Amino acid sequence: QARTPYYYTQPNEARLLLRKRDRFSHKGSFGHALLLAGSYGKIGAAVLASRACLRSGVGLLTVQVPRSGYGIIQTAVPEAMCQPDIDDDKLTGIRHSGNNTSPTEFAAVGVGPGIGKTPETLAMLKELISGVKKPIVVDADALNLLAENKSLLAKLPVSSILTPHPKEFERLTRKWSDDYERLDLLREFAQKHRVIVVLKGAYSAIATPEGDVHFNSTGNPGLSTGGTGDVLTGILTALLAQGYDPVEAAVLGVFAHGLAGDKAAEQRGAIGMVASDVIDALRWE
Ligand code: AMP
Ligand code: MG
Repeated sequence: QARTPYYYTQPNEARLLLRKRDRFSHKGSFGHALLLAGSYGKIGAAVLASRACLRSGVGLLTVQVPRSGYGIIQTAVPEAMCQPDIDDDKLTGIRHSGNNTSPTEFAAVGVGPGIGKTPETLAMLKELISGVKKPIVVDADALNLLAENKSLLAKLPVSSILTPHPKEFERLTRKWSDDYERLDLLREFAQKHRVIVVLKGAYSAIATPEGDVHFNSTGNPGLSTGGTGDVLTGILTALLAQGYDPVEAAVLGVFAHGLAGDKAAEQRGAIGMVASDVIDALRWE
């Protein structure tokens, strides 16, 4: 039988990917993640990504936000450690402090939610990409910065997970005329740059460096609301930190995010639900 590159993630497949927690585990067993998120007026993006990361099984979490976000993170997410940037309003570099002296010492790094696109933040992104060797999660304005500096794409660690919505994907590539052309662009992009691309929306499509595409079956229009993408970034970063293979992390994380969205819609209704409801509805079993 001819093999097609297309898959459709259903509940039984997602469940098989999910790992049990070992009775003799400790927080070191589940990785120490770093999230680089937020800018003045968008610290909420860092809060949402951090909470979602912690609700997705990560062992430890450090969040780096602009200095003005320090008190917000420490108050809204007490489980997370916080490294404030030297700048009040935006991220300008990887802050080297505590036990971790470089991004290479974290089990996984997620970057992008709410970071903005200033030249200083671009410098931070360059510093991250040149310093890190493991796959990272790249979202939101980190994707827009890559789109404006395409030479950086070649420097991304292999099997990094990029999570563009259609507009962000268009900036990374070009305009398409129909869904078929968009799917071709998606597969080509993932293969060329050897990354995993989650093209978000109804039936999010996850393209792998091998040229496969996994369509997601969960989620609903209630997810079309601010902050739900930041939640996905936190989830994916947590799964990478726990040592999930990056393709499996993307398939499982996108499925769980959509399922939590479906649960939130049941509880709050698709119209009234917000991104925080999606975090509250996350359930890993
Ligand atoms: P963002 O645009 O970055 O905030 O991300 C939005 C998130 O919500 C992504 O994970 C999308 O897949 C999801 N989403 C938005 N609209 C829908 C929809 N109509 N059906 C399913 N998922 C959606
Ligand atoms: Mg987004």
